[in-house]
This record gives sequence, structure tokens and C-alpha cells, in this order.
Amino acid sequence: MHTEYVYDLADGDATMRNLLGGKGAGVAEMARLGVPVPDAFTVTTTACVETMNRGGEWPENLWPEVEQALQRLEERTGLGLGDPEKPLLLAIRSGAVQSMPGMMDTVLNLGVSDDTVAGLAAGGDERFAWDSYRRFIQMYGEVVEGIEPHVYEDALTKIKADKNAKEDTDLTTEDLKELVATFKKLSNEALGGEWTSDPKQQLKRAINAVFDSWQNPRAEVYRKANNIPADLGTAVNVMQMVFGNRGETSATGVLFTRNPSTGVKELYGEFLVNAQGEDVVAGIRTPRNLEEMEQVLPEAYAQLIDTMNAMERHYKDMQDMEFTIENEKLYLLQTRNGKRTAAAALKVANDMVEEGIITKEEALQRIEPAQLDQLLHPAIDPAHGQSPIAKGLPASPGAAVGKLCFDADTAAVRGDEEPVVLVRFETTPDDIAGVIKAQGVLTAHGGMTSHAAVVARGMGKPCVAGAHEIRINPAEKTVTIGDKTYGEDDVLTLDGSTGEVYAGSLPLVPPQINDDFQHIVQWADEVRRLGVRANADNKVDAEKARELGAQGIGLCRTEHMFMAEDRLPAVREMILAETDEQRAAALEKILPMQQQDFEGIFEAMAGLPVTVRLLDPPLHEFLPDLVEQSLKVQRLELTGANADEIEAEKHILEQVKGLHEQNPMLGTRGCRLGMLYPAIPEMQTRAIIRAALAVRERQGETVDVEIMIPLVAYAEELKRQRAIVVATADEEIADSGQDLDYTVGTMIELPRAAVTANQIAEHADFFSFGTNDLTQTGIGISRDDAEGGFLGQYVIDEVMPRNPFESVDRDGVGELVRMGVEKGRSVKDKLKTGVCGEHGGDPESIELFHEIGLDYVSCSPFRVPIARFAAAQAVLKNK
Ligand code: PEP
Ligand code: MG
Repeated sequence: MHTEYVYDLADGDATMRNLLGGKGAGVAEMARLGVPVPDAFTVTTTACVETMNRGGEWPENLWPEVEQALQRLEERTGLGLGDPEKPLLLAIRSGAVQSMPGMMDTVLNLGVSDDTVAGLAAGGDERFAWDSYRRFIQMYGEVVEGIEPHVYEDALTKIKADKNAKEDTDLTTEDLKELVATFKKLSNEALGGEWTSDPKQQLKRAINAVFDSWQNPRAEVYRKANNIPADLGTAVNVMQMVFGNRGETSATGVLFTRNPSTGVKELYGEFLVNAQGEDVVAGIRTPRNLEEMEQVLPEAYAQLIDTMNAMERHYKDMQDMEFTIENEKLYLLQTRNGKRTAAAALKVANDMVEEGIITKEEALQRIEPAQLDQLLHPAIDPAHGQSPIAKGLPASPGAAVGKLCFDADTAAVRGDEEPVVLVRFETTPDDIAGVIKAQGVLTAHGGMTSHAAVVARGMGKPCVAGAHEIRINPAEKTVTIGDKTYGEDDVLTLDGSTGEVYAGSLPLVPPQINDDFQHIVQWADEVRRLGVRANADNKVDAEKARELGAQGIGLCRTEHMFMAEDRLPAVREMILAETDEQRAAALEKILPMQQQDFEGIFEAMAGLPVTVRLLDPPLHEFLPDLVEQSLKVQRLELTGANADEIEAEKHILEQVKGLHEQNPMLGTRGCRLGMLYPAIPEMQTRAIIRAALAVRERQGETVDVEIMIPLVAYAEELKRQRAIVVATADEEIADSGQDLDYTVGTMIELPRAAVTANQIAEHADFFSFGTNDLTQTGIGISRDDAEGGFLGQYVIDEVMPRNPFESVDRDGVGELVRMGVEKGRSVKDKLKTGVCGEHGGDPESIELFHEIGLDYVSCSPFRVPIARFAAAQAVLKNK
């Protein structure tokens, strides 16, 4: 049965994720399917959310409902919480709607006390009972009472030293009794005598601690990194304890139904005999390969394999499962869709389509587009010829090169400035901020399913775990490997695909795109409606873009060509020219260079559309810096340089002063420059048309030329600029004696342009939304310097859901785009529309652009495959 806030195990199923959390719904579903799971009840996410909304105070009915559910659980199990004869022990676990491995708190063994420890031992295993007791005090003390872990760890270390015990398991029952007494004394001291021993009160406080842990810093960081909303809250699962630490016929472990690194269909898991679940995931003891369990516990093993296969077929996806065996009896504690690398995601999706488990469309929906980034990243050049200095487990693939950092906080800071590798004894979920900023993670301890490995894989960070031979000295900030010691200024290279560690920085090779990738990206192409182009302004990028599936170039920025060292003097000459003749002479020098650049790009993109944008950058970027020029004049005067030279520099200084703008981003940019100096669009048009003709001459094929006018606010600007472009282009084409089609369009990147798009469309063949500037001017946030300042804080404080320069501001800037499209099409119903701001490569933004009905998105070359997937997913989502 269930009440408002509490559901018995039998009342849930897989569809109730939002209410019961992933874990609660998953366990209920397993029970429904007849899989052996321990009995349980779940406190809903609603209870957590309401508690958060009431500033930490529980809804009135919550505790009575928990007490009733507890009573039902006691009746079903025939055990009692606090019952000296037949004690019920409980596990209290968090369960978010979207999995957040290890980010929140858990309390195990709740219910063991002075009164019940004998009852727990009644099965004959006294040592186990006292071991559970000391574990409980420590976990409850740390998680619920906030007592510092070292309080317990120091006491444990001391007793081990006193008793000459190497491992925890070497401690005898008497030792553990002594340890429990010490733990109780220390806990009481830490709390000033407030330690609660009533198990019901402990249960209440433990549930509350899990609620609170939703808001702990590492959970917050993880949610931010994975875009999980902060207001979902967590469910709390209260489950009967089953014991993997009840001697040699008990065990605990985790498994994936396929290899989460490669996707290969093979057994992939780890287990520990005589241990509790936390021992495996926390990486404290290095677990054994699951295959070995067949020898140790054959019956439970066979049942586990059957259950594993059944669960995968049931959920139609790779599962990540946790199990415990108590006295040879198997229990499943959790099953969820397993986190995996991008390569594995593709392989699993591909294989499952082949195995007939899922359809192509389902396969596409499974893939996290942003994860594909991983496949597109470099690996160590196989021809490096160096020997590794250490080897650990290949916990998360990819290569990482960086200087060493020995704690997560330092990595979080240094990682912004230079590539760093985080080196830790073992990582805990608290290290997440450092993991995000590091290139990769190296740990001395822990297995393939340790938190470090799971988190790194999810993020696509290379990780080598459990490299036992490295000796870390955190105080000295060094690591010794073999007979060499490496410090914070030394560089290591990690290979997360093999587990190898190399000294120094190894050469990397570009990523390999395999068949799985090709298959699935083709399925995406069959489904998507949006075109995908790339932003590229040189031949190399254009070639890369085409290789990755770009259907043309949506933005070729021409200013980068102007800034090249060999061109800047001519560009300066052009801007500072005082007569039209001087300007024309300067432009004459630039024209052939521009033409050459365009030819390279057009060669790479022959047969496809290429949008070339006329010059856009703020004027000051071409000019000498005002301060530097003043200093230069002063220096010349002081050193008594020749008078002509001084005069010449003074003249430049005056010109720079004359052109100086307080706010260059809102100054003489974009078409405003072309309006002042029509010779610039004229020269650029000539270069574009000549290049297109030359490429056709050479290759027999050229590009669809699209000439784009930037930063238009008034229809009149476009009208005049277009007139210049058309006159020049037509003249060039006529002179060549050939034919060439071209179109002229504009960027919509100012709010006024979006609002007056119907007027602008009269003069445009196409619109390309520049959502970078549209965000800057639409929200009024400088795109150049807001990031490190208030904007960063706004994102942390969740004033805005995400950084609007990363993912488009749906309600504001998104509406401007929608308005621009609608108004533009009200005048020309076939008006071609695209987006070329950074948002063109962001999956969430792509979904919006699909909804709005744009024709294409354009993004950086490496994001092209991501955009192809995201565009297909947008179709499937809107079906
Ligand atoms: C834009 O503003 O979105 C755009 C693509 O142009 P740029 O980033 O070059 O200003
Ligand atoms: Mg712009």
C-alpha cells in the first residue's frame, strides 16, 4: 500500500521514476518482475521538495506515514527495528530521478545498537554483528551528525596498530567490541553528549540527512555539470539490510551487462567476498573480477547471470546493477541504465539494433549528443615508442596530458589556466570540481567501478584508476613512480584506454571515427530536418568540416584573414588612408590575398553552399593600441629621434585618438564599417567572385556563393550594402564572360533587426541568426567580459538556468529568433534561415531552432556530428 509520501515496494514500478527516484522505481520494477530484492519502502521526491520548500521542516504527515510503513515492513519481514531478539536493520539511500552516482548520502546498518547487537549475532556470527555495529556508528556519525571522518579513522588506525592488524579483517570480535566502545565515546564527545541511540529517531534523522544531501556542494557541482535541475529533490529508499559481510558465503558486487568502455557484449563486473557494498564502489579494497565468482559461489552466480540477461531485455538497454549475496542467497539492490563512454554508447546502440532489441529511432534517442565529443578527441600516437612508467586500470578512455595536481581544489583553479592531471590516492565524490577542470585523473587505488571511474567516464575524462605502483605524497605534492619523483611542475601523459601512464608529454593523434559512428550518424541524417553546416574560415577547417559531414559553410568570418601578420600593415594603411586613392591602393594589396583564402575554402566545399560574411570586427582591433602609441611617441621624443619620424607617429596617434571608441563592441563594427568605407565590401566581393570562378575553372565545380552583410540594424543599411555587392559582383561576372549565381543575405544579430525583419527581408535572400551578438545585445551582457564576473555568479546562483552564451536563452533571445523568422517569412515565404552563433552546436539550442523551423544550423567543425544527432533527436522528441 501507499500513503501520500511513502510507497511500499509492491506499489511502485518503473514508470514512477519522478516520484520514487531512479533507484526506488528500479527496485520496485525488479520486485514486480520476480527478481529477488530486499523488502523496502520509499519516501517520495515530493516529500523532499516540500521539506526544502519549508526550509527543512517536514510536512506534517510525513513522519507518521514513515512509522506506518516501517510497521508494515516489520510485519512483512517478521523483524523489528530495535527488537533485541530479531532486529531489523535498514539501509537508507538517496535516489534521485536522474542518477547522480555517489553524490548524495547513504546510511547502512541502521538498527544495530547495544540492545540488538546480540540478536544480530544470533545466527552464530558475533564478529559480523560487531563489525556492522562499528560501521554503523561511523557512517551515521559522519553522515547524520556531521562528525569529521578522521575522528573514526584515527581510532581505527590506532587499534590496528595496537593489535598488529594489517587489514580491517584482521581485527577480532574483541577488538571490534573495543572499537565500538571507543567510537561511541568519541561520538558522544564530538556531540557534547547528544548522541541518539533510539533507532526510530536515528531513522528520522537519517532520512532527513539524505534530504539535506541533495543540497551538498558536490551534488550541486554534479547537477550543474550535468544540467540536472536543482528543484527535483531526491527520494529516500529505506530497505531491509542484506549482508554481504556475513562470512565466506556472502559477497557483494556490481556489474554492467556490457563493457561500459567499449560496448562489447561481455561480462563486466567486480565483487568482494565478505564485504558490504560500499567497499566495492568506494575503492577501498580492490575487488575481484566477476568471472571468478563462478568458482566461489556457483549457484548465486548462475542466477545472477540469468537475472542480468533478463533485466537487459526488459529495459532494452545496458544495465548497471548492484547485488549482494547473503549466505548464498542472491539479492539485487539496484539496476539502472549504465553510464558509458561515447564509443560504447554507439556500439551498444548499433548492436542492439542488430540483435533486434531496439529500433533505429530508439537507438538514436539513446545517444547523448554531447558525449560524442569524446570520440572526436585525440588519442596518444601509437607510434610514440615510449615505455609506460606505470600501469593501472583503463577506467575511462582518451588521452590526457598535463602538469600534476595533488588535490581537487588546486586542480579546479589551475585547470582554468593550464592543462592539469589530477593525481589522487583515490578520488571521492568531493573531488568532482577538480575532476571537471582536469584533463584526466590518475588514482593509486580503486577499481573500474569506483566513483572516480564512473564519474570520469560519464564526463568523457580519461581516467587511469588503481595504479598501485605509484606512491603519492600529498603533503610534499609529489608522486614517486619507480625511482623517480614527479612534482607539480612535471607533466604526465595518461592513456585511459589502456591504463598506461607515461612521463612527459606524448604526441597525440586525431580521433578515429569508426563504423558504429558512421552507421548511427547516417540514421540521424535520415531522420533530421535541419541542415548542418560548419563555421570555418580556412581550408583546413573546411576540409575537416566536410569530413565530419557538414553540408556547407554557414559562416566564413573574413576578419581572421585580415589580421594575419602579413596583411595587417595593408589593412591599417587602408583604414588610416586619408584619400580614396590611398585607400584603393591599400585594398589592391589585400585583394589577391583574400582571393587566395577563398579559393582554398571553396575548393574544399565545392558543390555545397558557402556563406562568406563581409568584414565585421570592431575597428580598434586593426589599429595600434592608444596607450602604446602614446608611449611610442613619448619614447621617440625622449630619445631625440628624427623629427620626421616623430611627426609620422604623432600623426598616427591623432588618427587613433580620432577613431577611438568607448564601446567598440557597439561601435564601428559590421556593415557600419562598410557603410563608411564602401571600398571594403567592394574589394571583398571581387575576391569572392573571382575565387568562385577560379575554382570552377580548376575543378569544374564551385560553391553556391552566399554573401552576407553583418550587424544590420536598419533595412536601409542592407539595401545600400547589397547595392554595392550586386554592382560589383555583376561587373566581375560580366568581365569573366561566364555565368555565376550568387545570393546576398544578412545576419540578424541585433534586436532591432529581429523586430524589423519584415523590412529587412525585402532586401535579403537569406537570414543567418548571429546568436552571439543577439545574446550580447538582446540581454545586454558583454560577450567578452561577463563570463568571469557577475554572469558566472548568476549561473551559480541559478538566476538563469544556463550560461546564455553556451545554450540559447529560450524565452528571450529564442523569441527574438522566432520573431525574426516569422516576420522575415511574412514577406518572403521561402526565405532561407539559419543560425551561425555558438548555439548552433549546442543540442538544447538545436532543439529550439528545429522547433522554430530554421533551415540549418552552423557550428564549429568538431561539433558537426553532435549537431547531426541533436537535429535528429529534435525530430524524434517533437514527434
Ligand atoms: C554572432 O554574433 O553570433 C556571430 C556568429 O558573429 P560573431 O561571433 O563573429 O560576432
Ligand atoms: Mg556577430
